[in-house]
Amino acid sequence: MKYQCKNCGTSLGYDGLCWRCRAMKERQEVLAWTDEEIQEKLRHLAANADKLDDYRASEYATLCQLMEIRGICPPQLQRAALEAGAFSLAHLYYHAPADVRDGLILRLMETQSPHEAACLMECLAMQGDDRALEILLELERHPRPWRQQLYVDPSVYAQCGGWTFDGEGNRLQLNFDTSYALVKEEAGALFPTSRFPHILSAGMSASDSSSAGATPEKSPAGHSYSPVKIGRIRQDRCPHCGCSMADMLILDGRDKRLEFLGIDGIFTASCCPNCVGFSETSFSRYTLDGGSEPLYSELEISDVEDYLGRNGIEELSSNSYVLDNHPVPIFLGAGSEDLNTIGGFANWIQDWQYAVCPDCGRPMRYLAQIQWDTVLENMEGTLYIEFCPDCRVAAMIHQQT
Ligand SMILES: [Zn+2]
Ligand SMILES: [Zn+2]
Ligand SMILES: [Zn+2]
Repeated sequence: MKYQCKNCGTSLGYDGLCWRCRAMKERQEVLAWTDEEIQEKLRHLAANADKLDDYRASEYATLCQLMEIRGICPPQLQRAALEAGAFSLAHLYYHAPADVRDGLILRLMETQSPHEAACLMECLAMQGDDRALEILLELERHPRPWRQQLYVDPSVYAQCGGWTFDGEGNRLQLNFDTSYALVKEEAGALFPTSRFPHILSAGMSASDSSSAGATPEKSPAGHSYSPVKIGRIRQDRCPHCGCSMADMLILDGRDKRLEFLGIDGIFTASCCPNCVGFSETSFSRYTLDGGSEPLYSELEISDVEDYLGRNGIEELSSNSYVLDNHPVPIFLGAGSEDLNTIGGFANWIQDWQYAVCPDCGRPMRYLAQIQWDTVLENMEGTLYIEFCPDCRVAAMIHQQT
């Protein structure tokens, strides 16, 4: 039997909605939860905090929805999770209060288990304050026996929380605590409502309202003005496969919504869209006036076939994604397989990955994620875009299952 998605008409092997429309419907349902419903769910989660470690439990799913779609995870829930020893959903400890942090530290200093130590380091990284840094630095300098069973150092676990530290213990911020989604121009805003003012806050606490409220302008062509564009065809061709090179992300940091990025001009990340999936990381160098040059010398691949062709490159450049008008919760991107986002946390298909800047040798900052199948129907995986603001270098990392 052949079916069609009841919402968008995509062909399906079953009756119902496609996964993309299901994800959209789920978001709409969670956005419709009233404050009373949310309080009831939080009470239930706190009373059943032991289930927060079981990814098959409905409590686990509810917590993810609250954090990712509504940006909610209050201290009382963090305390209950700590009490229950639930450490597998690290982001529930994001910016947790000092008493929760100290509880995590106590457990981490006592544990003999490499697995528990790894989970606790991720939780502490999400908590992320200066004391958390001190502890992870201490564990890096004086490794415990469990360190031998882990692949990487505590400073790499810190990256899970969007930051890390150098050998002297200086903090390096690796992500942004504000996030925006890209939406298809014809589909309109992702969260088309002012009924939920708290989702406009960037983090878990409703603090940042300054970046909200930009009004889109109309260009003469009738399209909404967008300071972000995915996929623009370039004139140069890839020396490895002959495919047209592309500016994968162009972003005008001077737009009010994007001021949090601190880019005083235009950011561009350029690569070969065909080869980027075959190389570890692609790099390019940008200038704030809109210039961009791929760094071929950093590309470690031998010649490959051009699978994209002209049709692929045209499909890529013809998408209608624009920047949404209001910020979204910072873990929305981390919990979505169908959303392209700027800032916040990424949905890493494999482990989190921060490229090293080829100029200064420091880890680069996470800027955006592009789900390949949102712009190229037959391409799998996600493209993560990072940058070094000091050296003006962009990195593009491809991951897939
Ligand atoms: Zn659909
Ligand atoms: Zn190529
Ligand atoms: Zn650099």
